[in-house]
Amino acid sequence: MNVVMVGTGYVGLVSGACFSEFGVKVTCVDKDNERIEKLQKGIMPIYEPGLEELVARNTSSGRLNFTNNLAEAVRNADIVFIAVGTPSRRGDGYADLTYVYEAAREIAPNLNGYTVVVNKSTVPVGTARHVRKIIANENPQADFDVASNPEFLREGSAINDFMRPDRVVIGVESERAMAVLKELYRPLYLIETPMVITNLETAELIKYASNAFLATKISFINEISNLCEAVGANVKDVARGMGLDKRIGPKFLHAGPGFGGSCFPKDTQALIKMFHDNNLTARIVEAVIQVNNAQKSWMVKKICEALKPSEYGKIVAFFGLTFKPQTDDVREAPSLTIIPALQEKGIKIRATDPKGISEAKKVLNDVEYFDDPYDAAKEVDAIVIMTEWNEYRALDLKKLKGLMKGNAFIDLRNVYEPQKVRSLGFSYTGVGVI
Ligand code: NAD
Repeated sequence: MNVVMVGTGYVGLVSGACFSEFGVKVTCVDKDNERIEKLQKGIMPIYEPGLEELVARNTSSGRLNFTNNLAEAVRNADIVFIAVGTPSRRGDGYADLTYVYEAAREIAPNLNGYTVVVNKSTVPVGTARHVRKIIANENPQADFDVASNPEFLREGSAINDFMRPDRVVIGVESERAMAVLKELYRPLYLIETPMVITNLETAELIKYASNAFLATKISFINEISNLCEAVGANVKDVARGMGLDKRIGPKFLHAGPGFGGSCFPKDTQALIKMFHDNNLTARIVEAVIQVNNAQKSWMVKKICEALKPSEYGKIVAFFGLTFKPQTDDVREAPSLTIIPALQEKGIKIRATDPKGISEAKKVLNDVEYFDDPYDAAKEVDAIVIMTEWNEYRALDLKKLKGLMKGNAFIDLRNVYEPQKVRSLGFSYTGVGVI
């Protein structure tokens, strides 16, 4: 079986490499020549734990290869996945489907023999049908089916998520396409992974509904954390007390600076647009976004409060910039909102991050970067724990205190015990903890 993956970003590259690990032949295509050249040399364009080894193993076995020649790859394919970006369309929050449709137009003339064209990108309801229309218009002779197979992997644990998913969702309309995709996912059937087989629209919506629900859990606990601060309750214990209820579950109940990343912000926006297009209102999802924006502003206030009497000219070191640990991805990270807001108030920013500095440099201005957190802490007035990297979970606090000018320790991930940090002479600020 020959699989082609169009797009070698976080999803395309991980999925392509994992399918090759299943034993099928995979060709990953990208129009970014530099990315392909790097991949051909074994250099990963993204940071994802275990990916380099997985790619190396499968390229050397001949099952995985990289090309910018989409036409040739598609001509030999049984299955073509579209795994290109679907960012927010500038200005209006709709998912930008330019890349998906462009990929469909490029795929169409090269289809050769029966092929299943599968949307793996997160796309609004109706997109798979539109892709079918594009391909049929461009190549009326093509023998193909479309399918929807949304991806649920998380950056930072993407390989394990792909190899041992909670479920696989497949939207199809023909038995033939179903049989091809079942064959591809056979290794997951063997480990009894639940398969949700449904129509195209349902599969597309499952992805948005799942992401919006997870974002809702985050905004919910963040809003509760605001009340905790007002009434002297501890949000960590509230979350634990809630999460032990199996109907609720403990995941995604960590109060913090708000959600970010390449998915939740754009997917919640796009879901709202789908409601609007159908003359409906997404009241809950709208509130989720409002709470998330307010939470980021609240973090700015907290940091300024900790720097009092005046924040102007003060220096703050950010520990972590990525939207979560174990990735270099800073897309929509809360740090990208919080840091510029502080800079506007005349605060100087230093920052460190185990993997995210080069991506952050592309989008943040006037930040001084350090590889070592202890270098970043020299002469600063405050430290902000922005991302809960393991590297920042057991810092030598005494050493940090000795290096700093001020004593503010602002823990936006509630990693540390407030009493312990205060006992070392810091002023401690967490989120929803006292
Ligand atoms: P990305 O931006 O990291 O990568 C997209 C890649 O597609 C880029 O390398 C780009 O050059 C390439 N590309 C675009 N048009 C192309 C074309 N016509 N031909 C060949 N290559 C093309 O995107 P991503 O983060 O991997 O996300 C891809 C999709 O998967 C999105 O819809 C996203 O919402 C969804 N998704 C992402 C994640 C995640 O954690 N990143 C998880 C689940 C789902």
